[in-house]
Amino acid sequence: MLYRVEGIVIRSVDYGEGNKIITLLTPSFGKQGIVVRGAKKLKSRFGATAQLFTYGDYSYYKNSSLGTLNSAEILESFRELREGLEGPAYAAYAAELTDRAINDDEAAAYLFHQLKACQTALVEGKDPQIVLRAYEMKVVNAAGYTPMLDECVSCGREEGPFRFSPLAGGALCGSCRYRDSAALELEDGVWKLLRLFVPLDLRRLGNITVRESSKRQLQLVMRRWMDAHLALNLKSRQFLDQLEKYGELLGGPTDRPRPTIHAQEPAEPDAGDGTV
Ligand SMILES: [Zn+2]
Repeated sequence: MLYRVEGIVIRSVDYGEGNKIITLLTPSFGKQGIVVRGAKKLKSRFGATAQLFTYGDYSYYKNSSLGTLNSAEILESFRELREGLEGPAYAAYAAELTDRAINDDEAAAYLFHQLKACQTALVEGKDPQIVLRAYEMKVVNAAGYTPMLDECVSCGREEGPFRFSPLAGGALCGSCRYRDSAALELEDGVWKLLRLFVPLDLRRLGNITVRESSKRQLQLVMRRWMDAHLALNLKSRQFLDQLEKYGELLGGPTDRPRPTIHAQEPAEPDAGDGTV
């Protein structure tokens, strides 16, 4: 059967003599594995369409689990994401996270548009540490593990201050924080960003300026959350961790479970430009 879909290449691996197998994230068919014959050959007209991060219009024959590319047209190459050091590291992480967090053949229109917006935001030079954290929240939403942030997960109390407990499922109030001694104490600005990210459409993400300490906390929160609920062991993460200096917040070899960073009251974040 011949299919025609829009897709983003989230994985591309060598296959046999000169071929590649790409994994496309598509709006209507989720992940699709497609063999691209001759993709590695110099004169291949499909070579560019098989590159990681490419957004294109793909048509392929599929009778079994793997399809075979029939034709392809690049709609946006996202070439910038394959250049330099940081761009590829961030974009590869987003692609691998997507690949691992969703199942084949699962309708993925929401995530498709969010990934495309994530790649676009990275190309536009928006702060990758904000773009990626917001995208992580989108993946978590799509996987069905949205944290509860507006009330205590244990007793439903709506007044803070809260601590953030990945194990308990989100916010824990003062009376319930004993339920997780490792629950994280977060800056107000980090709570605001987390609450902003849950409903945020990444296509509407503006330029938000966030303090370094808030970025560290955000990184830690999302990491702990994903470790607790998605348990993905991502290859691209190691390099990204070096780039983002993950672990600085933990204070070296001793893992402090409750980092406390006090700072002034941050401004109200919104989806547009602003400072947090
Ligand atoms: Zn409570």
